[in-house]
Amino acid sequence: MLAARSVPVGFQPYVWASTVEEVARRRNLSPAQVLRFDANVPALPGVPAIPLGESFARLNEYPEGTYRELREAAAAYAGVAPDQVVVGAGADDLIGLVARTFLGPGRRAFVERPTYPLYAIATGIEGAEVADAGERADVIWVCNPNNPTGALRDPTELAALARANPDSIVAVDEAYFEYSGATVVPFIAEAPNLVAIRSLSKAFGFAALRVGWAYAPLAVADALNRARGPFNLSSAAQAAAVAALSDRAHTQAAFAHNARWLPWLKNEIESAGLKVSPSAGNFLLIHFPGTPARGAEAADAFLIKRGLILREVKVYGLPNCLRLTVGTEEENCLVVQALKDFTAGWN
Ligand code: PMP
Repeated sequence: MLAARSVPVGFQPYVWASTVEEVARRRNLSPAQVLRFDANVPALPGVPAIPLGESFARLNEYPEGTYRELREAAAAYAGVAPDQVVVGAGADDLIGLVARTFLGPGRRAFVERPTYPLYAIATGIEGAEVADAGERADVIWVCNPNNPTGALRDPTELAALARANPDSIVAVDEAYFEYSGATVVPFIAEAPNLVAIRSLSKAFGFAALRVGWAYAPLAVADALNRARGPFNLSSAAQAAAVAALSDRAHTQAAFAHNARWLPWLKNEIESAGLKVSPSAGNFLLIHFPGTPARGAEAADAFLIKRGLILREVKVYGLPNCLRLTVGTEEENCLVVQALKDFTAGWN
């Protein structure tokens, strides 16, 4: 067999979280006993505000290839021009597209750590290296708010970063924008190298549809579009996305739910004796003490016995932490009780 194109030494591919069925099978539970807090998606799905029959009526035809309708809806959502929008199958597709367009052998990208592993993966797939701190980088990846810490950087600081590195692309992943409310989009008009990546997977509740888009200066949007696959999004996904983008009530409700439960969870988990990072997303990073009996692996095993799945973040470079996604009221109460039971008797 022909060997695959080489990737840099140390390249690690993406590792998908287990499915509910896999976890249930491994733990001798029924899938109904498993609750997931590991994917940073809302507990309840978005409901497509379109007649499904209509969007599936002409499955023999290709989508309109420039995705004008979706670009117009995404442009109106952020107050930019439709030509500044590039669409893809999820934010992940846009991350790959930025890498394919601006990285390759001999180029370098800067990745903050810890962060979402896909930036380093997309960089490596293109044969580019991850830059060391202080080294020049062709692409500077920023996750804002940062997954998995929840840390938020001020968009004015990121605009300054773009100005200070005019020969680099500064790609800001704003997948959790609807929770943080902070965006670099207003700065794109004055920064020819700034890109903001968005997703329908988080507050909108449509991760299964695979819709993402990027806001970019015209020349960058044009370069990205040239490298984009001709039909990289289905017509049905586009139709649902257009409706979702004009339904402000849904994202406002998602924001309100998060604003109610994120601080509650943080407070309760801290009162269980654990450290929790401040978060501008829909998730919390929980820090466990270093001893094995009190560590993240022990906590994970304890929680899984109750069917509660949090995200291990070892691959993010955080060995003694678990990431928890905000769930429904009932789910949040269950996970808090379980963490309190885990730490009971520590003091
Ligand atoms: N960016 C970040 C920071 C994420 O946490 C995720 C979800 N894991 C994604 C992108 C992927 O988003 P999408 O589903 O739109 O590909």
